Amino acid sequence: MTVPGNCSANIRGTLLDHCMDGGERCLACDGACCRSFSDVELSMEELERLHSLGAKRLHFSMIGRPRLVIDYNCEFLVDGKCSIYERRPDICRRFICNDPAE
Ligand code: SF4
Repeated sequence: MTVPGNCSANIRGTLLDHCMDGGERCLACDGACCRSFSDVELSMEELERLHSLGAKRLHFSMIGRPRLVIDYNCEFLVDGKCSIYERRPDICRRFICNDPAE
């Protein structure tokens, strides 16, 4: 797969510098990335948006960015899919997981 633009990669996947929706891998995925991180960073606008969507596992910090706590399972992961897919945080939209088959 060709990934346009700048990105940073690690063993789990690639974090793009831009949002990218509609990845084919996400359609067949059971939310592996939504269970494999301890948390994801949020902007203040995202914190408020997720709060309005009923998030209960939000962490506010005075010294860093607020976070959505995942700890093995994001609260918005339902039946292996993101239940707020159209409104999920930017960092979720920017992450492309590695295909374990590759
Ligand atoms: S908000 Fe959605 S895409 Fe982001 S970690 Fe939670 S379930 Fe996954």
